[in-house]
Amino acid sequence: NRIITSTMQMDDVEIENNLRPKTLDEYLGQEKSKEQLSIFIEAARSRNEQLDHVLLYGPPGLGKTTLAGIIANEMGVNLRITSGPAIEKAGDLAAILTNLEENDVLFIDEIHRINRSVEEVLYPAMEDFCLDIIIGKGPSARSIRLDLPKFTLIGATTRPGMLTNPLRDRFGVICKLDYYTNDELAQIVKRSSGLLGAGIDDKSAAEIARRSRGTPRIANRLLKRVRDYAQVRANGDITEDVAKDALELLGVDSLGLDYVDETLLKTIIEKFGGGPVGLDTLAASIGEDRNTIEDVYEPYLIQLGFINRGARGRMAMPKAYKHLNYPIGEE
Ligand code: ADP
Repeated sequence: NRIITSTMQMDDVEIENNLRPKTLDEYLGQEKSKEQLSIFIEAARSRNEQLDHVLLYGPPGLGKTTLAGIIANEMGVNLRITSGPAIEKAGDLAAILTNLEENDVLFIDEIHRINRSVEEVLYPAMEDFCLDIIIGKGPSARSIRLDLPKFTLIGATTRPGMLTNPLRDRFGVICKLDYYTNDELAQIVKRSSGLLGAGIDDKSAAEIARRSRGTPRIANRLLKRVRDYAQVRANGDITEDVAKDALELLGVDSLGLDYVDETLLKTIIEKFGGGPVGLDTLAASIGEDRNTIEDVYEPYLIQLGFINRGARGRMAMPKAYKHLNYPIGEE
């Protein structure tokens, strides 16, 4: 039952649906994206038009799905949610598109994983709001155009680099979501605990925030586990001592690193002399999926300055040696 994952877990569904902010005002942090979006939303609303297509990118759990919901809510339209891998055939996408209502928001998560034939249906749909359908086969085949309602596509991705240029170019608004600051996360923890009906003091909220890797989903997960711990081991209130004990028990260290981060860093340092080591070799050595390392673990370790990603592979940096109490070798 891991705290750090790239995907939602079973118990996230209940908690996340209750904790998701519904308006831009409730959505904490990401000031730049929020300001940009609020202007575009207001402009589109006052013209009574659909919002331009939006691409949201950043590591998992930073609030892309939440933001899509907020945009639909602020625009006063329906939200349809799907994901790149879920749309297998061009016909699946056609069915979704023809069922949309005017100005609706279609959210496609993991849009970088959409397949080529589906992507080709998206181009005219995004640009001209139409579908080109081929009827018949061979020489008698002909294509007819079907008009679609005007809609907003919101694409989310952890890997903007994997999007093709023609797809990327069709988004009018591109927002990068950044890791949250500890102060922002502490506010999110306090908001969430209020909604969950759990008492929490400022110091405990800050302690949970510090160990949440800049990620609201992890902050909410930790909060939930700490709340359980407080209920069973204390009188239900989350105090600093209770929070620290619970987080210790969860195996999340003072910077939010878990055993996978630790194994990863130790492997680079001990087995590969500090690196550089290629991603595939590293993944095989620690028995982790390469994508999980690339999407979930590595971005945070890079942000901390613990590893460096160069042309020849990953290298452990002095800060990582220090955190894990290794003597710092000659660089
Ligand atoms: P993503 O789609 O980027 O993986 P989600 O939108 O599912 O991330 O966000 C994960 C959880 O984190 C949500 O359930 C929500 O409660 C919380 N969350 C995300 N961003 C914010 C925010 N800016 N303010 C408050 N809570 C947030």
